[in-house]
Amino acid sequence: MSAFTPPPSIVTLRRDMIAIGRRLYERGLIVAAEGNISARLGDGRILVTPAGFCKGRMATDDLAIVDLGGRRLQGAWPATTELGMHLTALRARPDIHACVHAHPPYATAFAVAGIGLADCILPEVVATLGSVPLAEYATPSTPAVGASIEKYLDRFDAFLLKNHGVLTLGVDLESAYRKMETVERFAQIVHLARSLDAVDCLSCRQVDELLALSRTLHSRFSGTETPVCGQCRVGEPAHASS
Ligand SMILES: [Zn+2]
Repeated sequence: MSAFTPPPSIVTLRRDMIAIGRRLYERGLIVAAEGNISARLGDGRILVTPAGFCKGRMATDDLAIVDLGGRRLQGAWPATTELGMHLTALRARPDIHACVHAHPPYATAFAVAGIGLADCILPEVVATLGSVPLAEYATPSTPAVGASIEKYLDRFDAFLLKNHGVLTLGVDLESAYRKMETVERFAQIVHLARSLDAVDCLSCRQVDELLALSRTLHSRFSGTETPVCGQCRVGEPAHASS
């Protein structure tokens, strides 16, 4: 049987994007007109959320279609003002097909504090995301946002955007959305553990075991192959050769 998975139809993708917008809003990962979502249509075109809309209350006709150069091909409303960030990610990573950007409160608080979520603390996060780097501040809605994540794109699927929010990448919309939930829950747990004044990182051996297990369980370990932990430095070349 072929491993090829056909791209979703435009009807399915529109429906899924509306549903993801609603879930982001209902879970408090965005408020007002925050956040934006993109997904490949499979023919070089990209379906994106419109600028200025509440993403929890969109209709399928509100979505825009653009090409990889950012030209609007279809839709009554302009595409998200963060289109450049989405296109930077989609151009750099042909293996990912959807991006979700949100302002989840705990993870965004870490981004405001300048604290990345790169340490190996929770097995689920190590196995699914590797780690979550902190990209330097860039003025929202400018090309600088895309530039700020460029150096991380080949290795990571989730990024904290300094003083701004979070971007996650996935093989499809559901995958990108789940990573957003995982980042936010991770930030919440690290915050609580910090309040207890005791954050125990996993050991290098525990992380190595997790990565081996992850490669066995998942056909594709997306993004980073080895996380770079701020505490134990797992993933750095020096560690790998030691
Ligand atoms: Zn934003």
